Amino acid sequence: MTRFAVVCAVAVFAANAQTSYLLLDATRKTVIAIDWRAPDVPVPVGSLVKPFTAITYGQRHRMRFPVYECTGENCWLKTGHGRIGLAAAIAHSCNSYFRQLAADVSPADVWAVVDRFGLRGPSADCDRDTLFGMGSAWRLSPLEVARAYAELASRRAEPGVAEVIEGMRLSASVGTAAALRSALPGPALAKTGTAPCSHSPRAAGDGYAVVVYPGDSPRYVLLVQVHGVVGRQAAETAARLLPVLVGAR
Ligand SMILES: [Zn+2]
Ligand SMILES: [Zn+2]
Repeated sequence: MTRFAVVCAVAVFAANAQTSYLLLDATRKTVIAIDWRAPDVPVPVGSLVKPFTAITYGQRHRMRFPVYECTGENCWLKTGHGRIGLAAAIAHSCNSYFRQLAADVSPADVWAVVDRFGLRGPSADCDRDTLFGMGSAWRLSPLEVARAYAELASRRAEPGVAEVIEGMRLSASVGTAAALRSALPGPALAKTGTAPCSHSPRAAGDGYAVVVYPGDSPRYVLLVQVHGVVGRQAAETAARLLPVLVGAR
């Protein structure tokens, strides 16, 4: 792509008020590129908190993760995910799996773990669903979320984290962020989320996608928010945006 084409492509995204993004250097956690009106203002980020809830559970259960049955009740996929383990539950963002997992962790447990990733924890009296990103009670700033994923990537070989990373790898190949697979020359790690809209006027929700790239040797963390869509569609936007942003460097 010529430099002119790269500039034009980024300008198209920048002119689209529906999309916000920030690109971090995965190692330094510094901002490489950003188009986000208020990246320090906490917003609900939906299932982007699930990896940290999983690590919390793992730390209380010797890093062993259960297999649960998702019948579709309490899950966005009404036909159900069937028997599902942690990696697939992350890849397909199974709410039923995480609702059962979250029954075995407390807000204080989650707070202690996410603090090590630079995140604010949920309030001590929050309900179980808040612990895996439902609703809007647990709010995180886009910058702290992107930096927490950079920290997650740096710890990818640690027990518990490795299982989460495997789920993110699956997400970017066959899961809710599968749009990335054909958009990039190598594998990526990803997580998607859908949250209550944080804009005015309100839409039904906002879609989020976080992408760590390259998956084997992370150099970039991209966080994308798209107004009025679900997380899967935000991943499609990330799949178009990331090659442009990375290629521009
Ligand atoms: Zn499910
Ligand atoms: Zn919105």
